[in-house]
Amino acid sequence: MAAASFSSIFLNSALSLSHSKHRNFPNNHHHSWRGLEHDRTNPSFRSIVRAQSKEDIVIVGAGIAGLATAVSLHSIVMMLLSIITMMDKICALENIRLGVRSLVLEQAESLRTGGTSLTLFKNGWRVLDAIGVGNDLRTQFLEIQGMVVKSEDGRELRSFKFKDEDESQEVRAVERRVLLETLANQLPPDSIRFSSKLLTISKPESGGTMLELVDGTRLSAKIVIGCDGTRSPIAKWMGFSDPKYVGHCAFRGLGYYPNGQPFEPKVNYIYGRGLRAGCVPVSPTKVYWFICFNRSSPGPKISDPAELKKQAKELVRNWPTDLLNIIDQTPDDTIIRTPLVDRWLWPAISPLASSGRVVLVGDAWHPMTPNLGQGACCALEDAVVLARKLANAVKSGSEPSVEDALSSYGSERWPRIFPLTIRANLVGSVLQWENPVVCSVRNNVIIPKLVRLGPLLEHTNFDCQPL
Ligand SMILES: Cc1cc2nc3c(=O)[nH]c(=O)nc-3n(C[C@H](O)[C@H](O)[C@H](O)COP(=O)(O)OP(=O)(O)OC[C@H]3O[C@@H](n4cnc5c(N)ncnc54)[C@H](O)[C@@H]3O)c2cc1C
Repeated sequence: MAAASFSSIFLNSALSLSHSKHRNFPNNHHHSWRGLEHDRTNPSFRSIVRAQSKEDIVIVGAGIAGLATAVSLHSIVMMLLSIITMMDKICALENIRLGVRSLVLEQAESLRTGGTSLTLFKNGWRVLDAIGVGNDLRTQFLEIQGMVVKSEDGRELRSFKFKDEDESQEVRAVERRVLLETLANQLPPDSIRFSSKLLTISKPESGGTMLELVDGTRLSAKIVIGCDGTRSPIAKWMGFSDPKYVGHCAFRGLGYYPNGQPFEPKVNYIYGRGLRAGCVPVSPTKVYWFICFNRSSPGPKISDPAELKKQAKELVRNWPTDLLNIIDQTPDDTIIRTPLVDRWLWPAISPLASSGRVVLVGDAWHPMTPNLGQGACCALEDAVVLARKLANAVKSGSEPSVEDALSSYGSERWPRIFPLTIRANLVGSVLQWENPVVCSVRNNVIIPKLVRLGPLLEHTNFDCQPL
């Protein structure tokens, strides 16, 4: 049964590969079958949304992990034995794009259009190349040459050039909005259903996994991929604890200079006491900035941009004025404050990445602090590793092999993810030190004399084979 159904995924999707490369992702009010959803009083609507639809692969969450997984599955290329009949039978190995189709459910009405940037290192770029969007993104974002570290009085402590440390390093700050849109544009139409918030997940006796959305829609899925971020309801259902607040929060923003930004393509870092800040040029007109500060609890959520700006500026009011300037240049919809959290995946204590045919990817599985700039890079890595294993299993068509593939994904990724999560946390603790003596040793001895960037970026070596 499963074999027949899975091969039909291949057939259908392989035949429907042509799609517009560049589509817009507006608010999805008129989106195909969900267009009825506003007329909740209509009895026929009720019977439609209550009806159960069946899907083979459902991905929950259209963030970086969800979209990269969907695109990786869609882009999967396999060497297949094809038989060409000429005078005699000749067998040839051919690369065939199989295009495994999935459905992505996203709680929001559209792709995230606001927000700031993320820094992607070479491991992230290797994945983006493998799934075919690297060059498109490269043309839009500046390559960052190095890093300058200063103390809060503006004194330069150290500067590095990335290529001096590692010839193959590639660093760019990418606008999250553009990254999401670029990934989504790779998918066939109707691959993403917006306004589809997962409410509950269950395992009915009849088999499969049942997903119930807040609007009452029920979907039965053969395979569920949870890409629903740090507060993942799927992770919770699988027995994961809530991510833990690590004691500091971050302000982030994207400064906009319509007449051109004035910064060199370098990460500019300032280390203070219990406080650090930095900025990275993103494009000729945009500069990403961040401020990390200690706080005993996450505090209330603040969404008023004026208040966020005021609080951010207050933290660095005596620091070099560049930073205050970028904050002033920041449009309201690109400033946010986030409490930083992580979850350590202790062996034998933490649940596994997969349970049967349900699996987690990205922050839903391994929320980590952003101190190494690796959360999204690792979500991208997860996506290609999972897609490759899942596509092989789907191709073989046997029931246990899908479960084995998901479990093998977890076993392969865990040794990568677990130490990185701890390392990111420890780096954050060191950078958030408050003790004046310790900070003085850090700024006057450790950073200028002892730190080597090359070994610190060792974790960006990730061997991403083509899909
Ligand atoms: C301050 C800060 C700075 C960072 N900087 C970097 C950096 O420089 N480099 C880097 O690599 N990483 C960075 N990260 C980490 C990076 O942002 C995350 O690792 C990455 O966004 C994870 O992507 P994701 O798709 O797993 O989760 P998310 O981006 O959180 O996406 C989850 C998606 O699931 C949807 N969703 C959630 N619940 C449901 C539901 N019930 N039903 C349907 N949909 C749902 C959400 O709406 C969202 O679209 C940073 C993080 C922070 C906090």
